[in-house]
Amino acid sequence: MIRLRQLNRLLGHAWEHNPFYRRKWTAAGVRQRRLSRLEDLADFPLTMRVELVADQTASPPLGSNRARPLAEFRRIHRSSGTTRTPVFWGDTARTWRWILEGSERLFQLAGVQPADRLLFAMGFGPSSGPWIIYEGAHRLGCLCFTSAAVEVGEQRRWLEQFRPSILVGKPSALLALAAAGPGAGRRPASPGVRMLILTGEPNFESLRGRLERAWGAECFDRYGLTEAGSVAGECPAHPGGMHLLDEAFIAESIDPLTGRPVANGAPGELVLTTLGRVDRPIIRYRTGDRVRLVRDYACACGRSGTLLLGGVRRLGADETPKARRKP
Ligand SMILES: [Zn+2]
Repeated sequence: MIRLRQLNRLLGHAWEHNPFYRRKWTAAGVRQRRLSRLEDLADFPLTMRVELVADQTASPPLGSNRARPLAEFRRIHRSSGTTRTPVFWGDTARTWRWILEGSERLFQLAGVQPADRLLFAMGFGPSSGPWIIYEGAHRLGCLCFTSAAVEVGEQRRWLEQFRPSILVGKPSALLALAAAGPGAGRRPASPGVRMLILTGEPNFESLRGRLERAWGAECFDRYGLTEAGSVAGECPAHPGGMHLLDEAFIAESIDPLTGRPVANGAPGELVLTTLGRVDRPIIRYRTGDRVRLVRDYACACGRSGTLLLGGVRRLGADETPKARRKP
């Protein structure tokens, strides 16, 4: 019921204050009303990335998908990805707080404690991912430091000096850091490290064993996107997938060619609605990511809810209908 209340609040706010969605829904013939069940969200049209890009191009910098004046926005980030037109994303103070709550929740889900020390072996550029992960750990109360743009030899010395218990970074970067140490491959690359949080590179499963051996530490996958924030993360039970933050999102999975929902556990395109990012939401947004959603999964860690089974991968051009390229 809480999620339904949040969804009605989100939709009501968008009807009143968000020109992008009001225009889109009116054109699709959707009537403004309170929903009586979550499933009724399916009456609303899907939102495509190309629509957001076109809207942002027509009225820079953020387009008309916002429910507050630009002066109230506090952060702008760019979606990652070098091959596609970037989407700029903005947050007001309250929606950034909501984003960080999700990030913190994923750390808690993985078993990260306030006493942990985190070394972020990653760059902090225009995309929001590294900032969200860093500030989420900070919010949890962890000691955080970053070795972005520091050469690998000096990063090794920092490992000795600061003794982090958790490393965060791309799998390839963490492998390179392990390989740069003395006696690489014969003992854990830094004895105090107990956990590796992997981000930024999907499909790292083939590297998981190598990473765990090189560091003598457990790997945790994490998934998010600029338009949504932190979406899903792995728990210590490692059920073969990531827990999706059901309290923050409504997740659907559709056949990318027909737009129809797929069966429980079947591969499909992830469609997300951000329940709390009310000032710049995504509502039934096609992420372009292929996932397998398992509903009501009861995990050995104690959490029940949607499991994102296996990895996430970007849909190929041959899996997307031509219609997707039009608003
Ligand atoms: Zn679990």
